[in-house]
Amino acid sequence: MSIAPSNFYDFNYDSLNQYILDRFSIDQKKGGMRTNQLWKFVYKKGLHNIAQFSNLPSDLKTNLENNLSFKRVEISEKKISSDGTIKWLIKLADNNLVETVFIPSDNRGTLCISSQVGCTLNCKFCHTGTQMMVRNLSTSEIINQILIAKDELKDWGSQKKITNIVYMGMGEPFYNYDNVKQSVAILRNNHGLDYSAKKITVSTAGVVPEIMNAAKEIQTYLALSLHAPNDELRERIMPINKKYKIKDLIESCAYYAKVNKEKIFLEYVLLKNINDSLDCAKQLIKLMSKFPCKLNLIEFNAWPGVSYEPSSPDVIKQFYQAIKKSGHIVTLRKSRGEDILGACGQLKTESEKKRKSL
Ligand code: SAH
Repeated sequence: MSIAPSNFYDFNYDSLNQYILDRFSIDQKKGGMRTNQLWKFVYKKGLHNIAQFSNLPSDLKTNLENNLSFKRVEISEKKISSDGTIKWLIKLADNNLVETVFIPSDNRGTLCISSQVGCTLNCKFCHTGTQMMVRNLSTSEIINQILIAKDELKDWGSQKKITNIVYMGMGEPFYNYDNVKQSVAILRNNHGLDYSAKKITVSTAGVVPEIMNAAKEIQTYLALSLHAPNDELRERIMPINKKYKIKDLIESCAYYAKVNKEKIFLEYVLLKNINDSLDCAKQLIKLMSKFPCKLNLIEFNAWPGVSYEPSSPDVIKQFYQAIKKSGHIVTLRKSRGEDILGACGQLKTESEKKRKSL
């Protein structure tokens, strides 16, 4: 028998239902109702104190007290950018730190969540890759980021403030596949947080076998961090390309797009004199015609000690125009939250530095 989780937020709806039926000798007929109630307290109302769970029989409350933890992770620090972006430094039970970022815009509020402490990928332009400590986040730790942000933003009303969730924080979601998959199942469940698959984007540096699995098992929007139009260049800036080549990435993405009937978002960070030439744009256009995709050009966010520079506004414009002229869909992502190092790719906790200075 597998060991059931003891943390409430590690369960999905069905496994919670099964757990309370098995463990708490609840009548089969009542099981669904109780699961529904619990899910509502936690994911619709944001409660995490069993005493506040109303209309539950006292023996069920006692069972919950004795068997399941509703304890959440804590906020260690909060920074608010002049553009309204909010970054929370989240402290996990083992004192590791991860970052969660809320990016408000006119008609949406996007929450960017982390899937790992640190990252093993070592993309040369990414700050997270320079962090020493790496471990996967549990399902509970992924879900907690959303609950904490909802609390902070007072987002428990029917009109959601967090309208979109993106797995674009620290870590490679597909190196933590099972917990990412479970967290997406929890997010999508309509008894609780109720985010449709089209409100969620998982971003990957390109773990081919998991892209194939995710096509049927995760089914959110998929973003692929491409950043270079050929293997030679991609390998230089993204070591993962030694393992998974562009041809295989395209094949797996084409499959994902076909199963989910949606275009893949290609992410491309423009690095001065590295990947921003018109020749690169031409190669990229060729690649883009091989599968259903659209392009998101990203301004490079520099961080202390990095050797790359952002492309100049003129070069960015030229690159953008070249893609646009080819007929493909292309957008330019504006940098947000730069002043709090909350921008894309700048997430790296200060934990190491702080530890050293203790
Ligand atoms: N590991 C996943 C998700 C995390 S990073 C992935 O690779 O997709 C989210 C996005 O930010 C990726 O596209 C990543 O390449 C990009 N990024 C990393 N560092 C950046 C930087 N300094 N400036 C702009 N974008 C960056």
